[in-house]
Amino acid sequence: MLNMLMRQLIVSLAVVAILPAVEAQHKSKAAAKSAAPAMPAFGNADSITQEELRISLYFLASDAMEGRNLPSRGFDTAALYIASRLAEFGLKPMGSMSNTDGPLQPYLMPFELVTKHVIAESAKASLTAPGGGRGGRGGFGGGGGRGENSGPRTTDFEYEKDWTVVAGGRGAPPLAAFDANAKMVFAGNGYVIHKTNIDPFQGVDVHGKVIVVAGLPPELAALQGRGGRGGGGRGQNPLGEACKDFLTPEQYGAQNGALAVVHVADYQQIQTMENPNAGFGGFGGGGGGGRGLNGPPYSVPKLHSAETCAGVPEINAGPAMTEAIFQGESKSGAQIFYGAGSNVKLDSFELNSAKTLKLHVPVKSEGGHAENVVAMLEGSDPVKKNEYVVISAHLDHIGLSQPLPNGHNVNNGADDDGSGSVSVLAMARAYAEGAGKGIRPERSIIFLWNAGEEKGLWGSQYFAEYPPVDPAKIVADLNIDMIGRTKGPGFTDPDRTHVLVNPGEILLIGPNVSSDDLEKTIETVNGSYQKLELNHFYDVTKPDATHDNLGPQPNGQRIFYRSDHYNFAKIGIPIAFFTTGLHPDYHRPTDTPDKIDYHEMQIVSKTVAAVAWTLANQEGRPEVKTNLPEQLIKDMTLAKEQGWGKVTPVLAPLPGEPQ
Ligand SMILES: [Zn+2]
Repeated sequence: MLNMLMRQLIVSLAVVAILPAVEAQHKSKAAAKSAAPAMPAFGNADSITQEELRISLYFLASDAMEGRNLPSRGFDTAALYIASRLAEFGLKPMGSMSNTDGPLQPYLMPFELVTKHVIAESAKASLTAPGGGRGGRGGFGGGGGRGENSGPRTTDFEYEKDWTVVAGGRGAPPLAAFDANAKMVFAGNGYVIHKTNIDPFQGVDVHGKVIVVAGLPPELAALQGRGGRGGGGRGQNPLGEACKDFLTPEQYGAQNGALAVVHVADYQQIQTMENPNAGFGGFGGGGGGGRGLNGPPYSVPKLHSAETCAGVPEINAGPAMTEAIFQGESKSGAQIFYGAGSNVKLDSFELNSAKTLKLHVPVKSEGGHAENVVAMLEGSDPVKKNEYVVISAHLDHIGLSQPLPNGHNVNNGADDDGSGSVSVLAMARAYAEGAGKGIRPERSIIFLWNAGEEKGLWGSQYFAEYPPVDPAKIVADLNIDMIGRTKGPGFTDPDRTHVLVNPGEILLIGPNVSSDDLEKTIETVNGSYQKLELNHFYDVTKPDATHDNLGPQPNGQRIFYRSDHYNFAKIGIPIAFFTTGLHPDYHRPTDTPDKIDYHEMQIVSKTVAAVAWTLANQEGRPEVKTNLPEQLIKDMTLAKEQGWGKVTPVLAPLPGEPQ
């Protein structure tokens, strides 16, 4: 009891003592506030000019940047350009902290790349079959006469001429060395499709064997040429989700103990084999190293793959190898090839058990470097400055292309995403200049230029997996990708799937899916500032009659999942994505700075800068919605399981990194 009285007395004495101090602090804060020059409603956003946007864009989207493919000299030069401007603005570098050379590397956040290629001179493939001696190679129905039945005969095949490895490049499995020496089974196109009860493996045992397949399911065959083999491009797979709704032959093989898959090469793959350097980059024939206009395919060893369902290695067999594989079988190589080409259903069967295919695929790896560019304006509030608003764009584009009739062969990427990159640069300049005049937000602003968005959102995934700051302190990611084009008079676009805005309009994606609070903030700011028409056409994930133009049912819209903001959403951060949409110059050498609507870029940049300012000064933080889309919840769970989001010191500069 006594103790209780004593304690109450002490507490009230303490309060009496402290109160004046707290009040004094509030008073001084208020006084400071009233003494400081009146803070413009949206910081220094108003200072962003069309001219600064135009000047920077003509540099970033010039032919000299060679289309800013990652990795390339053009990309490195673009990264140095941004870093040099940030150093000029005096913003805080958020890149490498150690072993840096010069004033620019501290703005670069490096991550390792690796390219793997088959060591062609020692890659081996041979087929041993009953029939005696070493056999010659012939095309369909040609040569390779059979000797009388005097013991097994082995035929060797030349790498790249008679067969290639399917690996590397977008949508194709990572390249890995492998060996196999086994019997074979033929399994039609090899796809197991649950919804239509298709299972070509009924009655055949693939364990310890090589699976031979030809052709694709009709739904996928229809997509051929729009990225990768099995709909691995940007749209959604018509068969549904791999490993859930269907299994590729490689995935079935991995789940049933097969060693590898041999694809009977189709016409286009045969073309690639016959013209290895003809730049047919899109057909997954990436295993051969230096192919294509933009160098070999790279991957990022440190990134976790979204692929949760691995497959066994796969090769393409050209006509000679196909002929030999089906020699003496119920169907000849020619029948299989033409059957697959015309989508005829090909029944599965075990090949002659005396026949074995031996494969030896050695692989060489070479390291490479990539770098995000990152800077920060530190907030003014002693507590809130440890919370961050991220403003992001991607700096890379798709490099060189086949020349146009006028010889131009650079994908300049003025809109994609040159417009976003220079917009973030102008905001960085405005914020830095404002801070110099005492116009500094309470929370900190991080300016982020991602690398490798075109390759698969690499840079933003690296940032989300290995963040330089605590992701729980990131208030929101405002991502910009393509804000430079609007419908002018007489505008037409043959591609009905493209949606482009009118001047003064912007497509806003994300708030309706991930955060109502963020939506409210954007609407309030916009309503009292540039008054853009906020178009939520893509801000959905559920399909409906008007929205399903980007990817077949059942998953509907994909834009929410298709740019760097998505990696922030995966670690639970509210996101807003700003874009003016798609147009006929998308991913073409005609995406040039002379076609850009600089007024549109200016008003969108001011709006994003103003939203960031408001988020950086408001009391509370926008919350993420509870009822998120199924796909996002699944990806958030996987990211958690894979350990994304641990604060990680930025690597020191990598060999070959620009300085
Ligand atoms: Zn883009």
